[in-house]
Amino acid sequence: MFLSSQIHANLNAVRASIAAACERSGRPRESVTLIAVTKYAELDWMRALYDQGIRDFGESRPQQLAERRPLFPGDVRWHLIGHLQRNKARKVLPLAHRIHSVDTVRLLDAVDRLGEELSLRPDVLLEVNVSGESAKDGFSPAALLAQWNAVAGFTHLRLRGLMTMAPLTDDPEHARPVFRRLRELRDELQAGAPPHVHLNELSMGMSGDFEVAIEEGATMVRVGSRLFDGLS
Ligand SMILES: *Cc1c(COP(=O)(O)O)cnc(C)c1O
Repeated sequence: MFLSSQIHANLNAVRASIAAACERSGRPRESVTLIAVTKYAELDWMRALYDQGIRDFGESRPQQLAERRPLFPGDVRWHLIGHLQRNKARKVLPLAHRIHSVDTVRLLDAVDRLGEELSLRPDVLLEVNVSGESAKDGFSPAALLAQWNAVAGFTHLRLRGLMTMAPLTDDPEHARPVFRRLRELRDELQAGAPPHVHLNELSMGMSGDFEVAIEEGATMVRVGSRLFDGLS
């Protein structure tokens, strides 16, 4: 009882903040998908989220995604949000609704070939290291622009948009320029994209900064710890 009422309260607060951010920025509520990031969550917590209507789970590790997927109904969409090694791609491609973390042309090439071989059209987002922190994965904006013809040329995978993580800070306003830059980069890339590429998605915003991300155009926010406050 305690568990599900705590999660209920947390989820309601997050949903209310999403709705308020949408309203502030004149966007329809349906334009933002809440992905519950469950890398540190227990299965009970995930079941409580499912019971309260969550259908998008984000996992960092392919292995954990593969283990958990069969434990939930088939209407859950599983997002891989963590680093993907090429040798794990074969296993995870049929399981993931979207891969948010494709960060090299080599990995794109591997995903595209596997898509062809397995008769799949993998949905991918390109991870961008906007802030330039050396510890972060992702294309630099300059590298992505320079390699755009190669990146946009793959035809079995479907490029859906861009993903980023802002630097961790206490003040979400510090994340705003990062989110804004990702949106502008998306616009630049889209302007030079072949007709089969539609970069509609911006996966940005976590527990500390998702409201600002929505104001800057996020279509998917990846929220973990805020959903699990008061548990464990
Ligand atoms: C863990 C994680 C999140 C969620 O972070 P919280 O601060 O717990 O909301 C979002 N995106 C990625 C890529 C993550 O690894």
